[in-house]
Amino acid sequence: MTPIEDTCTSLRAQISATEAHLAGLKRDLADAEKVALSTRPTSDHENAPNGTDTDTGRWPLLKEEYKRYGRQMIVSQLGLEGQLKLRSARVLLVGAGGLGCPAAQYLAGAGVGTIGLIDGDTVESSNLHRQVLHRTKNVGKYKVDSAIEALRDLNPHPTYIPHRTHLTPEDAPAIFANYDYILDCTDNPATRYLISDTAVLLGKTLVSASALRTEGQLMVLNNPPRPPGDPEGGPCYRCVFPKPPPADSVVSCADGGILGPVVGTMGVLQALEAIKVITAPSPDSSSSTPKRESPSLLIFSTYSNPQFRSIRLRARRANCAVCSGDASVTLDTIKSGSTDYVFFCGSATLPSLLAPSERISPEAYREKHSPSTNIDKSIMIDVRDKAQFGICSLENSINVPIGDILASRAKPASLNQGPDNTSQPELPSWVPTELTSSESKDPIYVVCRLGNDSQIAVQKLKELGLDQNGQRYIGDIQGGFRAWREQVDPDWPEY
Ligand SMILES: [Zn+2]
Repeated sequence: MTPIEDTCTSLRAQISATEAHLAGLKRDLADAEKVALSTRPTSDHENAPNGTDTDTGRWPLLKEEYKRYGRQMIVSQLGLEGQLKLRSARVLLVGAGGLGCPAAQYLAGAGVGTIGLIDGDTVESSNLHRQVLHRTKNVGKYKVDSAIEALRDLNPHPTYIPHRTHLTPEDAPAIFANYDYILDCTDNPATRYLISDTAVLLGKTLVSASALRTEGQLMVLNNPPRPPGDPEGGPCYRCVFPKPPPADSVVSCADGGILGPVVGTMGVLQALEAIKVITAPSPDSSSSTPKRESPSLLIFSTYSNPQFRSIRLRARRANCAVCSGDASVTLDTIKSGSTDYVFFCGSATLPSLLAPSERISPEAYREKHSPSTNIDKSIMIDVRDKAQFGICSLENSINVPIGDILASRAKPASLNQGPDNTSQPELPSWVPTELTSSESKDPIYVVCRLGNDSQIAVQKLKELGLDQNGQRYIGDIQGGFRAWREQVDPDWPEY
């Protein structure tokens, strides 16, 4: 996109956010006018049988709000004071997916006054098992619109602001500036650093959560939100993770999978921590109030016992790039792009590891080996994990999970010399016997879900000498089963 197109996109997003905000204000005004009308002295007799509760301005909440929030207001840690803090709080959730949906649902239910949602994605049916605000009828709609539709049904009082865009470094400071608290409900490292940096530099407390497969993590960061250089402030995401994980180790929910209740649990806990932070007594109020919790990392693990563990976090790092005295990241470096998040976190897009001659398209493979013309036999190795192989697999394919392949390392040949002093690498146990026969020249094909793991596997098989010094063909199915579905078999399940 050119800079001017960027500007247009950004302006469009800001206009829709402002329009939504305006619509919210109009609704609030209409509600307030209704209340004003119903509390006029002439209506005393109908509305207040005992004639005591209708004085305009006597109670800070609407009658309906006392009923709606009564069950949480009578909890001693909240009270009316906490409810009023919630009502005046402005909370931004970055991400309206598996974490953002339950978090937003509880925050809206609790009566947070302004809730912003930012997400450029649309609802897909593969989201519905865990992104609990979205409905089947809303597949294809912007997630923020789908979510706000559900939130309004739940509680019409808050102002909901949609940001139908992916968070970018250029826009983040301007968007964050309109909110008091930030919830990180995203799933990629570059955005996590951007959110944390912006939150620290604008003095906002951040509730950060993540979930993958059967595990989740939760942290409250920059709490209290002191300026960079103040050691009393809470640590930031960079203090906890100064370096991003290697790009090729980052797995998304689309690739790694996720159980709905796992991400739901983490999203609900995010809402809970946000409510705690918003309603926390000010430090100078009564001495009987509990001390501010020290920062911690909460880890949830479905199959562990106990399922929750908490690790205490250290204070701010003295050399943190954002929150320390000699910070190098500023709002200007973020907006100008000189803090380059994509570069910092690296790109997980795997370059083609194999030569074109080592790859075959699904279509070409099918032509060569269709059941009717399969003159030369071939062996198909499927390197997806067992669960995926169990969902759907090709007839006669052999499952060798990539995890097993990567976990084992062939011993260096020099340490493993045979009696005749020739280098003979010992074959790891995952190598299927079908591949080890030295007489067979049947070609070996490797397939995976997207065509990345299969390339790594081909290289491994060649390293082990299974290509018999080039006598036996080993190659991968380019684009994996995603391409297979597009080119060969439209009935292949898309999961
Ligand atoms: Zn820091």
